[in-house]
Amino acid sequence: MPANESNCDQELRILRDLFRLLPSGVTVQDENGTFLLVNDAAAAQLRLAANAGQSAQLDERHENCLELLRAGRPVVLEEALTHGATRHVFLTAHRPAQVGGRKLLISNSTDISEQKAFEDQLFRSAYYDELTGLPTRRVIEHRVNGLIHRDGPVAPFALAFLDIDNFKHINDYYGHAVGDALLVELSKRLGHALRETDILSRISGDEFLLLLNPIRDQREVGDFIETMQQRLKAPFFIDQSEIFASTSIGVSLYPAHGRSYEALRQNADIAMYRVKNNGKGSTAFFDSSMEREALARMKIEQSLRLAILEKRFCCAFQPKVDIRTQDVKGIEALVRLRDDEGVIQAPGTFIDLAVELGLIDELTHLVLAEIVKSIDLINDTFGPAATISINVAAKQAGNPEFMRSFARALDDTGFPTRFMVEVTEDAFVAKSHFQDQILPILRGIGVGISIDDFGIGYSSLSALADITADEIKIDRSFITDIHQRPRSQGILRAIESLSEALGMTVIAEGIESYEELAYLQAATKIRYAQGYYFSKPIFLEDLRPAIPQTSESRASLSARPAPEGRVAYSRASGYRR
Ligand code: C2E
Ligand code: MG
Ligand code: MG
Repeated sequence: MPANESNCDQELRILRDLFRLLPSGVTVQDENGTFLLVNDAAAAQLRLAANAGQSAQLDERHENCLELLRAGRPVVLEEALTHGATRHVFLTAHRPAQVGGRKLLISNSTDISEQKAFEDQLFRSAYYDELTGLPTRRVIEHRVNGLIHRDGPVAPFALAFLDIDNFKHINDYYGHAVGDALLVELSKRLGHALRETDILSRISGDEFLLLLNPIRDQREVGDFIETMQQRLKAPFFIDQSEIFASTSIGVSLYPAHGRSYEALRQNADIAMYRVKNNGKGSTAFFDSSMEREALARMKIEQSLRLAILEKRFCCAFQPKVDIRTQDVKGIEALVRLRDDEGVIQAPGTFIDLAVELGLIDELTHLVLAEIVKSIDLINDTFGPAATISINVAAKQAGNPEFMRSFARALDDTGFPTRFMVEVTEDAFVAKSHFQDQILPILRGIGVGISIDDFGIGYSSLSALADITADEIKIDRSFITDIHQRPRSQGILRAIESLSEALGMTVIAEGIESYEELAYLQAATKIRYAQGYYFSKPIFLEDLRPAIPQTSESRASLSARPAPEGRVAYSRASGYRR
């Protein structure tokens, strides 16, 4: 403390220093707006000289703020800084106060640049898609609602639902980085030639919504979308790959197909679904027959969910037969659903839906549980050495999380080496995790791998060389009438010799006639087959009364076609029909 300083001076000095160092900005101005006091924080935030005294004046922008501050209203000052950054300062003032006979305006200022930047980021992610920069679902919904609820007459407009075909395959095959780049390029092509009043938005992974507003009639929309489809047909060049992508599009029109955003979006979605079911890559306008279809589908969906909940599934078993000895090498479990009315449904009616709805994993575990429950009967019927094949959808096969849990369940049965997992070629596409991550796990516990429906999937014959499987099942489409189809015979020979070289067992699927069997026996080295000729898939409980009680355990088949619904089995003990 300086020697001659009084207590009062000392207090004043401390107060002045405290004022200067306050973390939040404080200024005091007279009625003319002249700054009487400015602390360090305010000086930095408002770019004023600290302790500016009488001379510090506000520029014009600040003058406007002052007006608001005098009225007691808070103000946000926005100021562009160098490097493209922006500073935001939040100013609040108390109503002018009488201090020492003068009317003074005391204001507080806080730098809120960080909060503002965060807020902006939240806004952008709510309203703009990060990858493509397109507006999100909220924006288009808001716009459509705005159009519908506007005062006065509303001009017709169209809402189109776009879904990229087989995007999952593209992602699996080329990887996510290429998939993302494709989405960006695609959205550019889709957005081409749109008017100011149209909006293209990305609403989820590979789905887009397009608002065309206003429109004259359906024909105009049809022509526009046709041109758009044509534009999409040209290949995309991404990361040195030439990628072809097509899009399925469903369109609904306001007001003919709905008077709310929700109804229009849903009906456009229903129309798109129709396109997907009819071969993809084209456009459909909504019509009321589609609505009935969608309702029927929803009913199936509901009953499938219920069936899973109530475990209304059972298995039919079809043997794989040695075509020379008639011995049963193994069996394939084929799932069946008992519907609400007790009618047995084949998997063709529900497997794809179960995959789509994410119910297939549970279903596969139910199939395994059913096998475990019936294992004694299986052993009695087909012998304890018969392998047991379970079908796994390609989507499941590429999902490490599911496959790990499934492998654990197979191991927990105590007889994992009896099992074979049947997957289609799709499971082996380059970027799927099946080959590199899942296969070693299955092999580790002794489970066999079978390639189902070979020949109709994506892979070529040469791709077989990269696939490591124990068994290959040639699709029924090659086997039907094989004895009179030279082309199929050639393909069969090629698959046969390649599989032999790779050490894979070949199974012919779907043998129905003696002629087909005779051809395989005479002209090929194929040992095993499956088909109605030997036996339709059968329920074990149907079999129970037919099995004589004997200690013989090896099963074989009579080489006669099984009559529908009856069992053509007999055991090697001589029980033959
Ligand atoms: P898949 O695995 O190729 O099974 C063979 C299908 O062909 C079975 O149809 C079988 O009944 C039928 N089949 C066998 N021999 C003949 C024949 O000589 N002629 C004709 N026309 N058909 C024959 P199903 O049981 O209707 O199963 C169809 C498909 O459903 C299966 O084809 C399989 O891909 C799938 N599936 C069946 N069960 C399951 C399951 O538990 N999980 C999964 N993910 N898929 C399953
Ligand atoms: Mg199969
Ligand atoms: Mg098959």
